[in-house]
Amino acid sequence: MAKTLIYKFGGASVKDSTAVRNLTEILRNRLRNSMVIVVSAMGKITNSLEEILSLKISNKDFSENSAKIKDFHFQICKELFPENHTVFAQLDNLFFQLNKDLERTLTRENYDEFYDRIVSFGELISSKIVAEFLCHQGLIVLWQDAREVIHTNSDFRFAKIDWAKTRKSCQSIWKPMLENFPILTQGFIGSDDKKRTTTLGREGSDFTAAILSTSLDAGSVTIWKDVPGVLNADPKIFPNTKKFEELGYREAAEMTYFGASVIHPKTIKPLANAGIPLFVKSFLDPEASGTKIHENAPVHSIPTIVLKRDQILVSFKVTDFTFIEEQHIHTIYEQLKSLKLRVNMLQLSAISVSLVIDSQLFKLENLLDKLKDQFEIRYNEGLELLTVLHPRMDEISTLQEGYEVLLEQATRNTFQAVRRKS
Ligand code: ASP
Ligand code: MG
Repeated sequence: MAKTLIYKFGGASVKDSTAVRNLTEILRNRLRNSMVIVVSAMGKITNSLEEILSLKISNKDFSENSAKIKDFHFQICKELFPENHTVFAQLDNLFFQLNKDLERTLTRENYDEFYDRIVSFGELISSKIVAEFLCHQGLIVLWQDAREVIHTNSDFRFAKIDWAKTRKSCQSIWKPMLENFPILTQGFIGSDDKKRTTTLGREGSDFTAAILSTSLDAGSVTIWKDVPGVLNADPKIFPNTKKFEELGYREAAEMTYFGASVIHPKTIKPLANAGIPLFVKSFLDPEASGTKIHENAPVHSIPTIVLKRDQILVSFKVTDFTFIEEQHIHTIYEQLKSLKLRVNMLQLSAISVSLVIDSQLFKLENLLDKLKDQFEIRYNEGLELLTVLHPRMDEISTLQEGYEVLLEQATRNTFQAVRRKS
């Protein structure tokens, strides 16, 4: 059997009926046995489901919201299918289940588990519609529930993969099917050992594609996006962007680490370990080359700009006329670790430690609370972190025009600045 190919289509590529038809045309001459197609929830549906949960937890009425979600999907189906198609009954069924699940009791204690169960419907519904439409168009795919093969622990909302078990299920359940049919499945969702639904973290469908590719010894992964490939900057913010024809795994991983959102940060590592190439291609221009991320990409020195918003700069100053020592850094890092906060930039001086973290609900308060007795703490919110890989120093000053810089740092390969509009 030829090596398995994995295709991943995100929310934007299935956001309405036109998008689903476009996806179908992409697959028309590419679909084959031994292919797994991973789809996300349609458009911004995951956000809409999250909204329902936040209404429910504060005892507010969410009936209008859930009706909207149902209408949205039924409208898309009306535009895709004849009136008497079985997809309508299948959707009725899924929405019946969703509404039943929403009636259960939600508390702070079961919130994360409840969350996973509810938001997974976005993917379940979307994958049903896409699979049915492909079959309706004569492109036969098997709809499979990803929860049968993606095994995780019970860290709801941020579940960790059980790689060995996942591989075993992929090989024993899906591999034989793939000899005769392509499989269409959901990104983002899995199940724990009690068969409860889990999710892998927001935007986790890229990661699903990577997990499946290593578990099925795939030949490649293709992520279909609304951009021509991986660019050296976000075209919505910076003019004159360049597309990379090829990129090394390390370079791509570094870009996602600093905040490039084109690929989910967890995607690269499993692919790099298994040596599976990743293609990023445009669903608007499927014949174009896109970007190939692989081991043997030529080294380049094109400046690459990554911007991370909603950043907080926190400075910890020792109060007792001593200097910063290892123990101070250790104490701070221990608290960061227990709050699961990652440091995006760090600078030390004789008497202070400054670090940049993502703004996350309640986490700053907790951090300050834990450390306020040992340090004098100051912070600034609402900042952005600019990272430039392969910087050209003459271009940096242009990038910084109109900004007040609070902290900056440069090595030969990386320039970083925390800043705000002045
Ligand atoms: N639908 C999920 C989300 O929006 C997963 C994904 O899109 O990758 O976070
Ligand atoms: Mg999405």
